[in-house]
Amino acid sequence: MDDPNHMGFRESTLPLKNDGVLKKVKDFKKRFSRKYSFKKILMGLMLVVIVGLLFTTYKINEVRTRAFLVYFGDQEIGIVREQQEALNILDEIKRDLTNTYDIDVVLNDDISFKDTHAKDDSLSSVNEIKESIKSKMTFLVTGYVLLIDNEEIAATKTKKDMEEIIEKIKKPYLEGEGNIKEAKFVENVKIEKKNIPLNKIMNKDELYKYLQTGAEEIKTHIVEVGESLWTIAKIYDMNVEDLIEANPDKNPEKLQIGDEVKLLVPKSMLTVATVEEVKYKEKVDYEVKVEYDKKMYKTEKKVKVEGSEGENEILAKVTKHNGVVVDKEILNENIIKEPIDELVVKGTKEVPRTIATGAFLMPTRGSVSSRYGMRNGRMHKGLDIAASTGTSIKAADGGKVVFAGRKGAYGNLVEIDHGNGYKTRYGHCSAINVKRGDKVYKGQVIAKVGNTGRSTGPHLHFEVIKNGGNQNPASYVR
Ligand SMILES: [Zn+2]
Repeated sequence: MDDPNHMGFRESTLPLKNDGVLKKVKDFKKRFSRKYSFKKILMGLMLVVIVGLLFTTYKINEVRTRAFLVYFGDQEIGIVREQQEALNILDEIKRDLTNTYDIDVVLNDDISFKDTHAKDDSLSSVNEIKESIKSKMTFLVTGYVLLIDNEEIAATKTKKDMEEIIEKIKKPYLEGEGNIKEAKFVENVKIEKKNIPLNKIMNKDELYKYLQTGAEEIKTHIVEVGESLWTIAKIYDMNVEDLIEANPDKNPEKLQIGDEVKLLVPKSMLTVATVEEVKYKEKVDYEVKVEYDKKMYKTEKKVKVEGSEGENEILAKVTKHNGVVVDKEILNENIIKEPIDELVVKGTKEVPRTIATGAFLMPTRGSVSSRYGMRNGRMHKGLDIAASTGTSIKAADGGKVVFAGRKGAYGNLVEIDHGNGYKTRYGHCSAINVKRGDKVYKGQVIAKVGNTGRSTGPHLHFEVIKNGGNQNPASYVR
């Protein structure tokens, strides 16, 4: 069976001549090319080559862009060509932290990878990955937590740091004036070892400040023109009292422009209770005792025995909270010096009306016709009050009449000694109602206005003499 389509043609059983074979091949070619044209073959080959080339290019590209998405925990943090790059960065971060903080670092998360493809320009830089890890990781480090009344307040790297600061807080209160018997915290204070996020670790200065003030930073306000603590309190919706308390160094009445006003009352988180024995001296007041003397006027009083304070020495147990006394118990009281009572003597005798009161009244009614002072080149030693003849003249104050009668230019004159350094004179009288030696009371009529002596019309010439020297009567009467 000769199948023309059969590719592997068999040798004929008949011995064939060479040209016979050639003919057969030619025939075959003829038949073959009829079915598969040369063009078609060529196109097929080209297609194979193109597909091959495309596949190769793709394959080369696939291998070349092979990369890894880097995850820290479940968060994508970048793309790297080699996993080792990311692992190296993580190691470097751990090493840095260990060196800086001298502590073992416990990471909250680890790195993982996912296959991906990326061109060179979309790869993450070492720095990007580093920062990304740093921002997302929390380091749990071994530290020490301060518990105040079972509440976690602060943490430090070492127990020694914590203990040092606690002692530092206590120290100023241990230097009281007395004999400190005891110093402890009012609060329940404990230190515990714990794994803590790194950012919670405080250095000693931060811890000290924090425990002292209860805040990491105290906000302030800079005083501007026209501001006072009252207006500032209003701005921040605070009590003025709190502001004053927060600024004990400032005088609320005298704020200066540019002054820094603290807006928070620093409140210590720890209360140091100290109990000390204090010895101190205390003044003891004296009593005032009164004795009565019937020979003395009611208005008189004299100190017979001067009083003097006594002194006690006291031993007390004083309890202070952060230096402020909260309790005091007196243990012993020793008298060093007894107080001496003061003895005062008071009079009981009624004061007679003729005793000077110390204040003068205007001796008559009228108008001032001549004042005290130089007049026509001569000294006028009194005050002239013009009034019609016969008008009453009254004693300016209580006293004793030391002169009553005629005396040169004065005409009829009355002179009263008030017994307190003062004397008064009443001149030009038309009549005199008293005599020498009489005791007169303030306001008693002693004479009448007249025109006797050197006088140019009825008037009273009134003089005031203090310890022998003439005074201006206008300074005493009105
Ligand atoms: Zn006169």
